[in-house]
Order: sequence, then structure tokens, then C-alpha cells
Amino acid sequence: MIQFFSGFRSSIISFIVFFVIFMFVSEFQRYWFVKINLIEQVLYGVFAISILLASYFNRSRLALAAITLLLFYITLEQSLPWQSWVFSHGQWLVLSGAGVLSMLSVVKDRGLLSIHGFYRCILIICVGLISFVWLDTADILIIKLTHIEHFKPWLKYLTVELPLMLFSFLLLWRFIKEKSLVTTALLTSFCIWLGQYYQLVTLPWSVLLTLMLMHYLFAIVVDSYFLAYRDELTTLPSRRALNQLSLSLGRKYTLAMLDIDHFKKFNDTYGHDIGDQVLKLVASKLAQVKGSGKVFRYGGEEFTIVFPGKNIEQSLPALEAVRQAVEDYKIVIRQEQRKTKEARSHKKSSQVKTVSVTISIGLAARASKLTFEQTLKLADQALYRAKKSGRNNVSE
Ligand code: GH3
Ligand code: MG
Ligand code: MG
Repeated sequence: MIQFFSGFRSSIISFIVFFVIFMFVSEFQRYWFVKINLIEQVLYGVFAISILLASYFNRSRLALAAITLLLFYITLEQSLPWQSWVFSHGQWLVLSGAGVLSMLSVVKDRGLLSIHGFYRCILIICVGLISFVWLDTADILIIKLTHIEHFKPWLKYLTVELPLMLFSFLLLWRFIKEKSLVTTALLTSFCIWLGQYYQLVTLPWSVLLTLMLMHYLFAIVVDSYFLAYRDELTTLPSRRALNQLSLSLGRKYTLAMLDIDHFKKFNDTYGHDIGDQVLKLVASKLAQVKGSGKVFRYGGEEFTIVFPGKNIEQSLPALEAVRQAVEDYKIVIRQEQRKTKEARSHKKSSQVKTVSVTISIGLAARASKLTFEQTLKLADQALYRAKKSGRNNVSE
């Protein structure tokens, strides 16, 4: 589950799932439309829950997006003094909304009720002001450029489409770069926001906002789950996830403890940063283990692989293959050079190097009446024997 949802795949999947749900909701309007009043009432509750959870779990960008959407919804629903101004300035509204969503994809989550939260609120106000100023500037620009034949057919896109395109690029770039569920949620809101402006989407705002907030809540819950059960450096499931799995294992399974050989020396030679890089790359090799092995970072440079339903003979080939794969792996690392005059005159400030490490593995099968912890201890003793017998081998 954790490996499945990690990285870019999770963003793409959540994006697609969101749109499938969206299609369903659009297709089956007749079923929920009778309950639209209820949806409108519940929406305020969903807003409150989203904002509270987002700020509690330090997803301040989603909290700010939800607050902005709430202000929009209140303006839409209640007859506030500025309501007619806002809705007679459709271009300003679409630019401000899209601008805020793409701006939020660039900034970091740094707490809602902090000075950073305050700065971000100021930024949101600035996006609104800049959009307003831009609309006037664009009018002047159009007058100035209108006599240039070459520009003429494109001028009608200058006011709204050009900035929207820039916002889209910015958001897409952040979506690809950050690979997080937060940017995915911002991207889906952005798509709906534009879809509504160009009348590609015809659902009521209460339903659209409910869908957006559902996506925010999904991102918050799944992200928090990751935080608890996934190791940050290697993105492998953590020891807590291993303990969780141990509760659901059957009677038959094997456990392997893996440890990188002489890693302390490696750190001493190349530095802790390079050590981290190598740990990450070794973890990615281990994650490719065959034989339905599940890999965890046990702690430090130690890993655990669980083979549910397998015995020693069935697990050995997969472990041997993993040991060999790590041994053969020429790890390319980047080493920052000292900024001497000489180095500065060269464009590249980092040096590429290849290194390799080996791992030792201890394997144990669960015997009758043994607990998970006892089996783990047996695997650890086998690892000790593997180290004793010269390292870079698998011991039972
Ligand atoms: P052995 O072959 O006996 O396992 O030797 P070793 O040096 O690997 O054994 P030891 O367990 O004494 O040292 C483990 C070292 O792993 C200590 C620490 O420097 C390094 N290490 C543990 N966790 C991390 C980490 O997250 N990042 C980096 N860079 N190094 C780590
Ligand atoms: Mg160790
Ligand atoms: Mg070690």
C-alpha cells in the first residue's frame, strides 16, 4: 500500500480517480440533485473540517486554498455588499483564483497560524491586486499593439488566456517536480476553476467545492499516513509499518535482516551526505526484490525483508539475487567540489564518481511457537554469522 502510493504514481492515480468521480457525479445528477439543499448546508461543515485538519496536519497550503474558496462561496451565496462587483468582474475572478492556486503550489507548507501563514495571506491579497492591475495594463497594451499586424489575431488572448497559460505551466511544473498529493489537489481545483469559467463544467458550485474539498481531505489523510509509516530518506515503509505487518502475518513466513557492510567507514570516507545518497539508492535496489518480499527500513543502514507464506528454500534465491544486485551496482554519486577559483571558472561545480557497497543478509524462518520478535532475533543472529564469515553473503 505504502509503496504503491509513493511518488509520482500516487499523484497521477489520485488525479485520474478524482476525474472519474467527477464524471460519475456529472453523469448521475438526477440522483443527487434533489438533495442539493442538504449538500449546500453540509458544505460549510466540510469547509470547517478541511481547514481544521489541513492546519492541524501542517498542510497550510490546502488550508489557505480552502479559506480562499470559502470566501468565494460566501460571496456567491450571501448577498454581501461586494457580491455584484465580484461577479461582474469575471476575468478578475478567474485570474485571481487561478493565480492563488498556482502560487500556493510554489510556496512551502509552513503553518497556518504563524508569521508564514500571515505572509501567505498577504501574498493571496497581492495576487488579487496584481490581477486587477494586469487587466488595466492589458487594455493599454492592446491599444498600443493593435497596429502591429503580426500581433493582431493574438491580442484577444492577452488579457486572460496568456496569464492563465503561465499559471498552468507553473502549476504543472510544480506538480511534476513535487510529486505530492497536495499539488495534485491544487491542480484538480485549478482545472475545475478554469472548466467553470469556460463553461466546460456545468455542476453547481456547492457540488464542485465539495469535490475539491474531498480531494483535499484525501490528500491530508494519505499524506499523514505516509508520514507515520514511510521512511523519509528511502521512501521505504518504516519500522512502524513492519510492526503493523507483523500483526497480520500467518503462521508461515521468513524474515531477512540486511545490513550494509562497513558503512561507518564509507561515511567517514565520503561524508554523511554521500552516505545518505547511497542508502537511498541501495534501498531502491532492495525494493525490487522478487518472490513477493516486502522491504522495510529497520533503522540506520539496516533493512528487513518479509516473505509471507514462504520457507527458507523459497526465499533464498530472491535474497541472493538482491545481494548480487547490490554488489554489482555501480552507484553514481555527485560530489560538490570546493568553490575554488579554478572550480568557479568551470561550469560544473559537482564531480561525478562511482562507488559500490555490499550487504550481508541473515535469514530465519518462523518456527512453531515463535513470535515475530523471536524470529527477527534469529534473523539478526544469522546476520551476525554472515558478518563473521566475511560479509557480502547470505546466512541462515
Ligand atoms: P558492519 O559491516 O559491521 O555492519 O559495519 P558498519 O560500519 O556498517 O556497522 P555499524 O552498525 O557499526 O555502523 C553503521 C553506520 O551506519 C553508522 C552510521 O555512520 C551509518 N548510518 C546509519 N544510519 C545512517 C543514515 O541514515 N545515513 C548515513 N549517511 N549513515 C548512516
Ligand atoms: Mg548496522
Ligand atoms: Mg553495517
